[in-house]
Amino acid sequence: MIHYLIPVYNVEGKDFPAVSITGSKCKLMCKHCYARILQRMKPTETPSELVEFGRKIRERGYRGLLVSGGSDEKGRVPFEDYVDAIKELKKIGLKVFIHTGLVDEQRAKLLKKAGVDMVLYDIVSSQEAIRKILNLNCSPKDYWKGLKHLVEHKVPVAPHIVVGLNEGKPSEELKSVNIVASTGCNALVIVVFTPYPGTPLENAQPPPVNYILKVMEYARRKISAPMSLGCMRPRQIREIEYKAVDLGFNGIAFPSQDALNYITSKNIKYEIHYECCASIAYHSKHTKAPQAPKLSPVP
Ligand code: SF4
Repeated sequence: MIHYLIPVYNVEGKDFPAVSITGSKCKLMCKHCYARILQRMKPTETPSELVEFGRKIRERGYRGLLVSGGSDEKGRVPFEDYVDAIKELKKIGLKVFIHTGLVDEQRAKLLKKAGVDMVLYDIVSSQEAIRKILNLNCSPKDYWKGLKHLVEHKVPVAPHIVVGLNEGKPSEELKSVNIVASTGCNALVIVVFTPYPGTPLENAQPPPVNYILKVMEYARRKISAPMSLGCMRPRQIREIEYKAVDLGFNGIAFPSQDALNYITSKNIKYEIHYECCASIAYHSKHTKAPQAPKLSPVP
């Protein structure tokens, strides 16, 4: 979804495409996205189109894909008809990551049946953000319950916390971190609200840098699962990447050249994985997450 190329380090974005099972359509039209993200995905609007696309990319040597799409009015990506197609993608050897939106017990069971490798699941704890930004008539508890269902049914899940979802204002992120910590997930991905052209929030500001860093510190302190800095973040703010390195985050999606310079200047060994940012959980299954550094208490 993102053009990425750092010639100095000879790395570029490739090998893990995103598809939208609803094409460019979304009934929710969240104010921070306005379905714009779907425009960068390959439309696969029937199960057979999805399988056909999967076969094509497998033949070309791709390793996996992200199944995504717009949501219905209740915040759910309608993947129910794609369970067999996902199983087929798994059979041909692709890793399948999926954006699901809200999940109830029934949907969690279906995801388990499909055998997805990772669910990318937003945790939102701000009632105001749910109502104003996501246009939803539900509560933070619905997000928390969804995570619980996924964990209970042993579906691999990488919760995402969007720092500053409510137009860049603090949005109960520390509460979201506590929820993730209490459910024992496979990974945590921190992303940051980034004003996007063509959306109602295009003129909003990203959250204050200090606040982003505070959430990252708190998360690293509370969560022992692998953590990564996700692809959605204001790229110009280098401190976020440096902080991720200093805190021992396990991954950074699309690191800048400055971040790679910073990592090498500290003699930290790194690997490049051509996959989506939640894959850090996948790759960390066999490696222990580093000990969280001792930090001063969060005020
Ligand atoms: S539901 Fe997803 S695709 Fe639709 S507007 Fe919200 S973030 Fe964008």
